Amino acid sequence: MTETLKIHEVIPCSRANGPSIRYTIWFQGCTFNCKGCINPATHSTTDGYQVSIDGLIKDIIANEKIEGITLTGGEPLLQAETIIIFLKELKLRSNLGIILLTGYSYSELKIKSYFPELSTYIDLIVAGRYIEDQRISYGLRGSANKEYVFLTNRYTIEEIENSPLAEIQFFDNKKIISGSFIDIFLE
Ligand code: SF4
Repeated sequence: MTETLKIHEVIPCSRANGPSIRYTIWFQGCTFNCKGCINPATHSTTDGYQVSIDGLIKDIIANEKIEGITLTGGEPLLQAETIIIFLKELKLRSNLGIILLTGYSYSELKIKSYFPELSTYIDLIVAGRYIEDQRISYGLRGSANKEYVFLTNRYTIEEIENSPLAEIQFFDNKKIISGSFIDIFLE
């Protein structure tokens, strides 16, 4: 498999991006430009780094601590076709739960040609732009307009809304602060 995905950052074991422990991927690139976005460093489509789908899947599957993965950004669905290839292969090789955060509203998503297949791999979509005036910043929604779209019964709204508000993780060469109201990646 030769396809690659453009990534901004990864946390292999996150507790603040959904229930339990999750491998969390911030995708690079977003064109929505929501006012007050907490993560402007993810907007450029030229920054970030490429990872192979094979390498990413091996890293995820080798991680025995996680219950699932969270796809966030940036806008993951700028790379929708490749994400479908990635999720299809991951689902063949694991039973991990899948949460997707996207700036598209559910009504926008439903008419995308890729949505019927994409939706078969995902348990929960958190859908909609961030609207600063409607900021709430708990669970996985940064603003009240964003919708939870449960596509399976794997997760409940209580589990989602009880996710920790934020976490700080220290790595050899960086520090990452993330959660429903903050994403900071420090070298
Ligand atoms: S969709 Fe998300 S990443 Fe993109 S500008 Fe809006 S809040 Fe920021």
